[in-house]
Amino acid sequence: MKIIRSITEMQAVSKTHKSQGETVALVPTMGYLHKGHASLMRHAKENADVVIVSLFVNPTQFAQGEDFDSYPQDFERDKAVTEEIGVNYLFMPIASEMYPDGYNSSVVVSGISKKFEGSTRPTHFNGVAAVVAKLFNACLPDIAVFGQKDYQQTLVIKRFTRDLNFPVEIVVAPTKREKDGLAMSSRNVYLSEQECEDATILFKSLTKASEAIKAGERSRMVINNIMLDSLNSIDKINPDYACAADADTFDEPEEFARGQRIVLMIAVYLGKTRLIDNTVITLP
Ligand code: AMP
Repeated sequence: MKIIRSITEMQAVSKTHKSQGETVALVPTMGYLHKGHASLMRHAKENADVVIVSLFVNPTQFAQGEDFDSYPQDFERDKAVTEEIGVNYLFMPIASEMYPDGYNSSVVVSGISKKFEGSTRPTHFNGVAAVVAKLFNACLPDIAVFGQKDYQQTLVIKRFTRDLNFPVEIVVAPTKREKDGLAMSSRNVYLSEQECEDATILFKSLTKASEAIKAGERSRMVINNIMLDSLNSIDKINPDYACAADADTFDEPEEFARGQRIVLMIAVYLGKTRLIDNTVITLP
């Protein structure tokens, strides 16, 4: 596995592979890799000849007071994980090359960026969309693999990729969970043993709401309240939102329709840690 730091070198390497008829997959990450990231890399390997994993803790997607400065890092372990999976390139761009002096551009996806995560973190998706666009231009992938864990992020990325004609196929891979249902996340390292146990309420709440939907529940408010009531059963959990919406448009009708694909999304604070999770379900 080769480590590349320069954007121009990364572009040249990718172009060389493509000129030889090989397909290139990109898996963007912020490092501190876990089994969820590994599953995306394996998915990339199965679907392309060459796999690039990018590792960049992107400052512009963190707001003031968020955990940019303390975001967990372990380069040696990340290198070992990517090598073991057979990743071809680890792309670790330098912040000053990604954001040179005078950097003054943005990628804004209106509408879907503003709801849910966007209402609590209003600048987050602008930072995500811009950095992913930059990673696409640096790595020139044919496909890019993202996790369903960050559901709204996948919608934002699909939208700007289509709207701005990036020639990249966006693939969304399922969320990897611990045995108790907790979605794997680099931020889980912030949680104490007790908090890890408390955090299983996210998946339990999603499951409860899914079961109600399977049993015929269609009312959005009832579904949202099932999730909220369940989350509120744990004292330490401070829900930010628990929302059901159309999985493609984020529309929020009073009642969902038969056959409609909807997404259930939860965000909570547990101590200082923000946790998100979601599930997608098609109404019977
Ligand atoms: P991050 O390093 O947190 O920015 O995540 C990099 C990629 O890994 C994103 O596409 C995430 O959605 C994805 N990811 C994070 N956690 C999981 C998980 N538990 N299962 C699958 N993919 C994940």
